Amino acid sequence: MPRNCRAVHLKDPFPVPEPEPVAGCDVCAALARQRAAAHALGDKATVIDSNIEMRSHSHPKREGQ
Ligand SMILES: [Zn+2]
Repeated sequence: MPRNCRAVHLKDPFPVPEPEPVAGCDVCAALARQRAAAHALGDKATVIDSNIEMRSHSHPKREGQ
C-alpha cells in the first residue's frame, strides 16, 4: 500500500495550530501582541511560549451547548 497520508495543509513550519486569542481577554491580547512581535522578529521560542501560555490559561470554554 502506498504511503499516501497527507497532513492537513500546513504552510507554517509550526507543528501545532496557533491558538486564537479570546476576545475580551487581556491576557490573550497581550500574548497575541507578544506573539505577533516575535513572528516579526523570527523569534520562534517566544512564539511557542506565547502559544503555550495562551492555551494554558483557561477560559470558560463553550463546548457546543
Ligand atoms: Zn485568554
